[in-house]
Amino acid sequence: MNPLELDSTYVMNTYRRQPVCFVKGQGTRLWDTNGKEYIDFLAGVAVCGLGHCHPAVTKTIQEQAGKLIHTSNVFVNEGGPALAKELTRLTGMDKAFLANTGAEAVETAIKLAKKYGRDKGIARPEIIVMAGGFHGRTLGALSATMNPIYQEPFKPLLEGFITVPRNDVHALEQAISPSTCAILVEPIQGETGVHILTSEFLLRARDLADQHGLLLIADEIQGGAGRTGKFLAIQHVGVVPDVVTLAKGLANGIPIGVCLARGVAAEVLGLGQHGSTFGGNPFACTVALTVLKVIEEEHIEANATDVGNYLMSALRTVEGVIEVRGKGLMIGAQLAKPVAVKVAAELLEKGFLVVAVGDSVIRLLPPLILKREECDLLVAAFNSLKLAKEEVLA
Ligand code: PLP
Repeated sequence: MNPLELDSTYVMNTYRRQPVCFVKGQGTRLWDTNGKEYIDFLAGVAVCGLGHCHPAVTKTIQEQAGKLIHTSNVFVNEGGPALAKELTRLTGMDKAFLANTGAEAVETAIKLAKKYGRDKGIARPEIIVMAGGFHGRTLGALSATMNPIYQEPFKPLLEGFITVPRNDVHALEQAISPSTCAILVEPIQGETGVHILTSEFLLRARDLADQHGLLLIADEIQGGAGRTGKFLAIQHVGVVPDVVTLAKGLANGIPIGVCLARGVAAEVLGLGQHGSTFGGNPFACTVALTVLKVIEEEHIEANATDVGNYLMSALRTVEGVIEVRGKGLMIGAQLAKPVAVKVAAELLEKGFLVVAVGDSVIRLLPPLILKREECDLLVAAFNSLKLAKEEVLA
């Protein structure tokens, strides 16, 4: 059996996969089993921000794999605490809990918020979440993700999540009750098609959190680690949350997830109240330290801003694209017609990786080392699609 047959036979059928198997990657390029070359505008869904097999990352992986991989959280290691310190500097937080995935980072934030509420005497603490936000597939994170398609088969979910429409300040004000312990926002909503929470909304959320003694939690799992041109997407509006979750781009493909907190929130989880076997292992954390170093040394955030603005302007000229949303290299192109799946498939055929969100949005999350010339190639491919002429035009 070839890898595609093995996959469909032996792997649970939870992903709608494209029929391509990649075997090699370098920078923004990938090669499949037939030797065909692709330009990657997805970066493993916002993970390989420094591109595939970045030399500094590969070097750290090789060195650390030969030195020490795992010792457990019964002991201290060198990489974990050093990574926590770096992340507090970059985010304005005070302490970190180190985990392995985005969903785990969100679970940590939810547990932290609930305990914060309980410590204040709230019997059944509630967290306000936004419609259109995505926080992960584990039961807690799923309970915070108000999408019936994801939630329905797994009910009953956790209680205590109150949804408000994104950017609706009035609804947010109305939703706050004596049981509220936290407001959870995804500053740029990625999975639902790249929707930006307005500065007005985020600033008001900060004010309300201060006024009512709530935690403001920013889920930066997709938008963080430099993707939008700043280390955190929420830093564009100058709002400092109380809790931040990070994952995806932090270790360029080695699994990692982090929940950071500041002030009182940093002290909420006590001895024995949370844990993880793999979380904070020296391997993933040392790789993440290298990623953070490269982000600064190679001016990755400035490139994300420059090339992101260039790509967004170029996409606005494409026939059939009616709106382009985003910041830095977190971009959603809204199509006039519901043909996103076909467009993504045709672009793949032409050697470009993008992903369709729903029927009519193409999402682009390329490596942050992307060059303007590569954007020109994508836009030319977009313009040459059969669909652009026949179906995409409004
Ligand atoms: N939060 C956000 C904003 C995400 O985009 C994702 C994944 O796409 C998650 C949480 C869940 O992360 P993971 O898939 O690593 O569990």
